[in-house]
Amino acid sequence: MPGFELFGEQERKQVQDVLDTGVLMRYGFDGMRKGHYKALELEKALAARMQVKHAQLVSSGTSALTVALASAGVGAGDEIIMPTFTFVASFESILAIGAVPVLVDIDDTLTLDPKAVEKAITDKTKVIMPVHMCGSMADLKALKAICVQHNLLLLEDACQAIGGSFENKPLGSYGDLGCFSFDYVKTITCGEGGAIITNNATYKQNADHYSDHGHDHIGNNRGAEAHPFLGYNFRISELNAAVGVAQIARLDEFLALQKRNYTIFRDALSAVSSVTFRRVPKGGVENYSFLSFFLPDETTTKRVHQAFADAGLDVCFYWYDNNWHYYRKWDHLTELKSLGKLPQEVINQLPDYSKADFSNSDQWMSRTISCLVKIGWTHEEVQHRAALMVSTIQATL
Ligand SMILES: *Cc1c(COP(=O)(O)O)cnc(C)c1O
Repeated sequence: MPGFELFGEQERKQVQDVLDTGVLMRYGFDGMRKGHYKALELEKALAARMQVKHAQLVSSGTSALTVALASAGVGAGDEIIMPTFTFVASFESILAIGAVPVLVDIDDTLTLDPKAVEKAITDKTKVIMPVHMCGSMADLKALKAICVQHNLLLLEDACQAIGGSFENKPLGSYGDLGCFSFDYVKTITCGEGGAIITNNATYKQNADHYSDHGHDHIGNNRGAEAHPFLGYNFRISELNAAVGVAQIARLDEFLALQKRNYTIFRDALSAVSSVTFRRVPKGGVENYSFLSFFLPDETTTKRVHQAFADAGLDVCFYWYDNNWHYYRKWDHLTELKSLGKLPQEVINQLPDYSKADFSNSDQWMSRTISCLVKIGWTHEEVQHRAALMVSTIQATL
């Protein structure tokens, strides 16, 4: 998945443009910039590639989620439905605006189970936030229908699936809002950065103002700008955006390499009868950043994962025991361990997750192994790894 693997001349040239002017900020200083507006350029390129009207760059994928929620008017006490399998950024971004993360089971897509989502809706629910984990997507058609029926927003966390699609729409563009991360280990990177995409002009304008202290960005004197509402600073720097300008131009090249390598792994593992694959919803095309598969039971899966590590197969993950990605290790959330006092709405409304039954998620996650698909591997390395995965599984069963 990581864009940093193929970091090179194009990225250096873009960054050099910014260094040559010394204007490291995206706003203002028009006379000094020699026509370089890297953040603006990346927003245009991203909107075009994702077939949406608007893109807003911010400082990270986590802040993209926060800004997306804020831009749609979500706030304290509103409930956001999110999956048990995701990255900690999901609940961090929700808590940051005083909203309440409501964890919901996943199914064999490894993303939100639409039936479980319906059961979790209350009169406080505002948003359904599917997370397209490990390169493949939630059943967006079913989730969209639920959103329409209950008048909810659909916010796609596409941080791990940029370039994938659903019903021919780029992931992130199907819902009301979509978010990407360009951190160092994502398919394309800015070093640090993130983006919101939408077709809604009001959300775009709100995101533009909110991510820069509420500045209305009218005129060319920052000091004289008005502030229609409270904001914060989630800006991206021109240096980071410059890296992204080079990387977005290479997205399709990276995706083609991921697909080639993924297909070699998948074809090899298809020959092992006890291996089954994660379900991709009908109409979905993955971005091929991971290959995720199920083994028959938890014990076997743990043994295979250990055997992979012993064999030197280093980038294969067993999320069930992982601190960052699965609810079982999120004690800091369940026990609400914060530095200072949290908003009263969060304290009052957060479900008691110590008593929650997520056995439906457990039965999938305890049997899942996900292997990262790198783009820097040679053809021979990929074939060697694929054969090693097969022989290691067969020796362990
Ligand atoms: C990486 C990631 C994020 C957060 O992105 P950062 O840029 O690291 O803040 C959010 N959601 C998912 C699913 C991610 O993988």
